[in-house]
Amino acid sequence: MDIWEKLYLSAKPLYKPQEINDFVYANNVVCALESKSGKVYTGYCIEMACGTINLCAERVALLNMLQDSGEMEVKRMIAFRDAPPTGLDGLPCGTCRETLMEFSPKNADTEIMVNYEKRETTTLKEIFPNWWGTIKTNKK
Ligand SMILES: [Zn+2]
Repeated sequence: MDIWEKLYLSAKPLYKPQEINDFVYANNVVCALESKSGKVYTGYCIEMACGTINLCAERVALLNMLQDSGEMEVKRMIAFRDAPPTGLDGLPCGTCRETLMEFSPKNADTEIMVNYEKRETTTLKEIFPNWWGTIKTNKK
């Protein structure tokens, strides 16, 4: 089993789209990531009627990592619905890309699964170049 299979199998059981109650909908996208230290964290998306908690699976996994260990750097991540990513469907949304960069600019090197079967990946800096924070940090 390679690390990607380990990540995939860690997140897969979380996929079970459900209305938890009349106000909360969750589990229709899941994510697993490997932190810099090698720990695996998972998350599932959650949406609430009030709108204050509308979080993608990726951001929930990031929060689980931060709250469990204080880590901010991510080696690699995979996100999917009922099947592993086969292309662009595996890529994080703009808010998650921004969140990864704000967690740590070193996450520019985070490896992101694109096509699970082919083990084709990309990096955050490839899909999110010219991050504004880099410009800000370069200014003194
Ligand atoms: Zn997102």
